[in-house]
Amino acid sequence: MVDHTQFTKTIALEQYGIKNAQVKYQLSPEELQAAILEKGQGKVASSGAIAVNTGEFTGRSPMDRFIVKDSVTEDKVWWGDINIPFDADKFQKLYDKVTDYLSNKEVFVRDSFACADEDYKLNIRVINEYPWSNMFAYNMFLRPTEEELKGFDPEWTVVNAPGFMADPAVDGTRQHNFAILDFTRKIALIGGTGYTGEIKKGIFSALNFILPVYKNTLPMHCSANVGKDGDTAIFFGLSGTGKTTLSTDPDRSLIGDDEHGWTAENTVFNFEGGCYAKVINLSGEQEPEIFGAIKKGAILENVIMNDKGEVDFEDTSITQNTRVSYPINHIENIRVPSTGENPKNIFFLTADAFGVLPPISKLTPAQAAFHFISGYTAKVAGTEAGITEPVPSFSACFGAPFMPLHPTKYAEMLSKKMKDANVNVWLINTGWTGGSYGVGSRIKLKYTRAMISAVLNGDLGLYNYKDYHIHSVFGVAQPRSCPGVPDEVLSPRATWSDHKAYYKTAFKLANAFRENFEKFEAYASEEIRRGGPQRYAE
Ligand code: ATP
Ligand code: MN
Repeated sequence: MVDHTQFTKTIALEQYGIKNAQVKYQLSPEELQAAILEKGQGKVASSGAIAVNTGEFTGRSPMDRFIVKDSVTEDKVWWGDINIPFDADKFQKLYDKVTDYLSNKEVFVRDSFACADEDYKLNIRVINEYPWSNMFAYNMFLRPTEEELKGFDPEWTVVNAPGFMADPAVDGTRQHNFAILDFTRKIALIGGTGYTGEIKKGIFSALNFILPVYKNTLPMHCSANVGKDGDTAIFFGLSGTGKTTLSTDPDRSLIGDDEHGWTAENTVFNFEGGCYAKVINLSGEQEPEIFGAIKKGAILENVIMNDKGEVDFEDTSITQNTRVSYPINHIENIRVPSTGENPKNIFFLTADAFGVLPPISKLTPAQAAFHFISGYTAKVAGTEAGITEPVPSFSACFGAPFMPLHPTKYAEMLSKKMKDANVNVWLINTGWTGGSYGVGSRIKLKYTRAMISAVLNGDLGLYNYKDYHIHSVFGVAQPRSCPGVPDEVLSPRATWSDHKAYYKTAFKLANAFRENFEKFEAYASEEIRRGGPQRYAE
């Protein structure tokens, strides 16, 4: 354990252009909690966790995420509406304004690491306007010991000023909030938004450039855990598909819930030192490990509490994206350090709101490449009356907003690694069954867990064709039976009362896959192209 009472070092911020600040360096979570309460920026919940509101933004703002276009990034970044270029001079001017804004203020500074593997460690300094943002950095990044802090030389700096509002006309931003990465100066500059996720995803995005370009390592938007025999499993998936939920498994040691690297030395490592779980509808019965992690030291975001400090996890009046961050050691069964061997199984998680993808299926290497590049999940319609149609959502590599390089760069690395490591790849639909959103229901968490356990315990057996049915539309191999799961749940068609409607919807999704893939077709081999849905008709 890190003993904070012994941190005596302090630092000056003049070198950053922040003048005359009252620097609060490396405060303990207890000290930060006291500062949060004193400023009236949070309340203690009955669980002991602190609850804060992040303000105007309760989620990331992908349209306001920029990368400085200069000699380092110009030829490497895949520019477009995901990686929006920002002018280097404009960045300098905006940076000066932000550091001016932070001058003469109380400022919270934290030194920490990303990357749990010693050989890949990245030293990070986070400079925050608010104490709760700094406590988030304590929870989410790797915490140095005092020994490691001596002579700590920060490589990347996060400057985080939620209260600073940009002037788009002058500053070159889209609106008053922004998150900008400068790979030359190694700065993530965040302003106008208090959403803490911007801090962790800022460093994630930086690593998603640094690791493949300079370290021959594949960065992945996935969770990871390891079984008693040291067998690693990783779970890719877009937001809300179950990375955090399914990797937090009492029978397996958690490596991490969101961001990992896969090295050329056949190891995987977590980038982070904490978890950031969704808490919408969280229950102690269904998810005891995450529920239990919400205690002193955890930070709840944008939840509603009663006057006894009890959280109503069903209340989404502020946002659907209610969250909690906690240091990874709030989970009992964790791997220390947060590293593992080559994965044996890879799960692609998708929340298919059309309810047509099988709840579990096995993918061939070509299908795995196709699905990785596609990065499919579905968004359920908002709460607007009458709208029940799900919207397909494709995000390459299951994390396009955080990937500065062209998706095929990551896909090529993954394909090669999967082949070399001879991994099994599974597509898991954690979304709807028995009909689309509005008619069917979300598949029971207990069934999804049973399917994943069956794979990991070897109970689904080897790949015997007779034990699998090849889906006529998606071409994936769907097991006919699985311990702990009723047979009919395994066949999505069987769960629909109207078979014609099932096929109509399946074709609709197949077409959406095809249409989305068009922009990648030129990069993909014939084999990978054939990894997509098998046939489609109007
Ligand atoms: P993010 O990238 O935003 O962190 P995530 O992939 O980690 O997202 P989770 O936080 O695990 O997503 O969210 C999955 C949500 O879906 C949880 O609220 C979980 O309780 C719920 N859920 C319901 N049914 C299932 C299921 N069958 N499998 C997985 N999750 C389910
Ligand atoms: Mn998560």
